[in-house]
Amino acid sequence: MPWVLKFWTTGDPNATPPVPAVTWNLTGAVVTPYDVPPGQVSDITNALNAIAGLSSYAAGRLNNYGQDIRVGYDPGSPGGADRFAADKFIVIDVAAANNFHFFNSFGKLVQGNLGLTLMHELAHIYLNTTDSPRGASDATMDGMNFDFRGAVIDEQNKIAEDGNLTDQIQVSYQAAGLGLDSIFVANVSYTDNNEIDVARIDTAFANSMDHTLNTTRVRDLLFGMGATIR
Ligand SMILES: [Zn+2]
Repeated sequence: MPWVLKFWTTGDPNATPPVPAVTWNLTGAVVTPYDVPPGQVSDITNALNAIAGLSSYAAGRLNNYGQDIRVGYDPGSPGGADRFAADKFIVIDVAAANNFHFFNSFGKLVQGNLGLTLMHELAHIYLNTTDSPRGASDATMDGMNFDFRGAVIDEQNKIAEDGNLTDQIQVSYQAAGLGLDSIFVANVSYTDNNEIDVARIDTAFANSMDHTLNTTRVRDLLFGMGATIR
């Protein structure tokens, strides 16, 4: 069953010709979608077609999504998912998503791939789960074998691997975000292209990062930003 994409638009009955509304049931929604700008409609459509063309695993996920794939606009958001609305949907601002960077498995800060970012948000819905590392305290992250990725990043990485996007394996949910390229140099490996399992950037609140308890995923790239590192 090929997937059906729907983009939120409030429509305009007075336009010539009238623009029909495309909306859905927001009961329970946490996020309010805005009309998706026409340019972003084509960016999103193309990015999903591209990732489905690269990865048969992603194509399978889209084909078996089980409902219309609903997308709204949220200014400034690099991506979000609303699993709580009566009709589940994702939101994104492509302009922000294009500014999203993360550390990959070669210690390199890379720009996120729009198709993977969209699949990440859709995975929140079809796996019905959150990003488990989100909001973890520093003490929690120092715990034995803390999972810096979670099920949704794992899924995103599985699609990247299947699609041969070898530069797009994200090692940590946390070492990622908007404007990171203003702090670090993008497209440069901080590990001389050696593979890593985890990247962690100290927050302003922690005075230390301690990974000595880890027995798996022990190849770390840690940015202390003033912290003590063990
Ligand atoms: Zn997420």
